[in-house]
Amino acid sequence: MKQIHDVVIVGGGASGVIAGIFAAQCGAKVLIIEKMKEPLRKLKITGKGRCNITNNAPLADFLRKTGPDPDFLKPAFARFFNDDTVSFFNNIGVNTVVERGGRVFPQSNSAIEVVDKLVLFARAKGVEFKCNSKVKGFIREDDQITGVEIVPNQVIKGKSFILAAGGASYPATGSSGDGYPIVTALGHKVTTIRPALVPVETSGLTAKNLQGLSLSNVKVNVWIDGKKTDEEMGEMLFTHFGLTGPIILSLSRRHNDSIQKKKNVVFSIDLKPALDEQKLDNRLQRDLDENGKMKLSNIFKFWLPSKLIPEFLRQLSLNGEKLSNQVNADEKKKIRKLLKDFRFEVTSLRSFSEAIITSGGISREQINPETLASMLYPNLYFAGEIIDVDANTGGYNLQIAFSTGVLAGEYAAKMALGKQTQDSIA
Ligand SMILES: Cc1cc2nc3c(=O)[nH]c(=O)nc-3n(C[C@H](O)[C@H](O)[C@H](O)COP(=O)(O)OP(=O)(O)OC[C@H]3O[C@@H](n4cnc5c(N)ncnc54)[C@H](O)[C@@H]3O)c2cc1C
Repeated sequence: MKQIHDVVIVGGGASGVIAGIFAAQCGAKVLIIEKMKEPLRKLKITGKGRCNITNNAPLADFLRKTGPDPDFLKPAFARFFNDDTVSFFNNIGVNTVVERGGRVFPQSNSAIEVVDKLVLFARAKGVEFKCNSKVKGFIREDDQITGVEIVPNQVIKGKSFILAAGGASYPATGSSGDGYPIVTALGHKVTTIRPALVPVETSGLTAKNLQGLSLSNVKVNVWIDGKKTDEEMGEMLFTHFGLTGPIILSLSRRHNDSIQKKKNVVFSIDLKPALDEQKLDNRLQRDLDENGKMKLSNIFKFWLPSKLIPEFLRQLSLNGEKLSNQVNADEKKKIRKLLKDFRFEVTSLRSFSEAIITSGGISREQINPETLASMLYPNLYFAGEIIDVDANTGGYNLQIAFSTGVLAGEYAAKMALGKQTQDSIA
């Protein structure tokens, strides 16, 4: 008789592959079913091809970067956190380096190295992959899952199951939201899914005029319905449709709901965050005094990247030919204000095809955070982005995938192996 697998995992992404490895290390016979022709397609493009595998922030800081309910992730992080990720990758031959902001990358700067070594290690542990196989749904008998149905019409039996089919972002990598109808068919709730860590569209032509310009060490203040609600420091970029870059992606994640609900959301760039109003005023006055005969279009070069100057002169209704010693107090005040409050009205989020992650997903209410088991089907587990959890950019999302993958993998293995013992006793 054909031996059935102990643990069957739907989805060969970051969470599915690590779940498979840790389940196999517990002694389980593991099968990963992946719809693409190879596993880990998304991992290959992470971190712009460099794969930011985790972030070395301490737990409390790490949790602050995650949402919507950081407590849900505590048991997964208690089992396998960022230091475990680094040790794991070092052990499989991926050396790592820590960069600015605590972001951990492979020393080789190669996501492909990470993918190749993960797959090699998984195979060495006995994990089997069945690629080019799209899962359509689970087969159930009462509260037990007994198998998965693959297109076209093939059933694969197992003892316990992990759904790790990812979210709906970057669908070309295989993560196209298939998991959501699969779990709702089982009676699981799925919260509203939205593109997150996604660029934003802004009104007017200013961003378009500035496309290609990137800014570092700026602060973006977020105003919602006239109230300052958030801020983030770092790098950003102008595009033909609006704004992107690390701080914009993080802010778009945190204010996703307000943007979707069409509230009045303004991202205001503070181009001089290190200087308060008084210090900035002193600096402007000093430059104007010391360069009285200089044209405004030139003196602005002391304060701004060249590409921003025509836009500033236009918004301030100033003639670039005007000399510095002709700038009056009111004009200087307007310059100072614009440097601290360069405003963009956010009109919408870009689509799933450009979103780094999906916010929303399988409701946490029906998942036991200690084991990641379904509360409806004791032999079904969940891992990764398909759960309603998410985080900022910086390596946090892959850590969530790894931590939930390890926890689900080990408990799914224990469940399957426990069953085996009971079955053989019976
Ligand atoms: C461009 C980009 C860059 C990123 N960079 C980083 C980064 O540097 N650091 C970081 O922390 N995070 C990064 N992320 C986010 C990170 O990649 C994800 O959070 C992570 O991959 C989620 O892992 P997962 O296993 O849950 O899902 P996925 O990696 O999406 O894997 C899900 C897998 O399930 C398969 N699947 C789906 N449906 C089915 C089905 N019906 N049958 C069989 N298989 C199915 C898919 O083909 C896919 O292989 C990035 C994301 C993108 C899009």
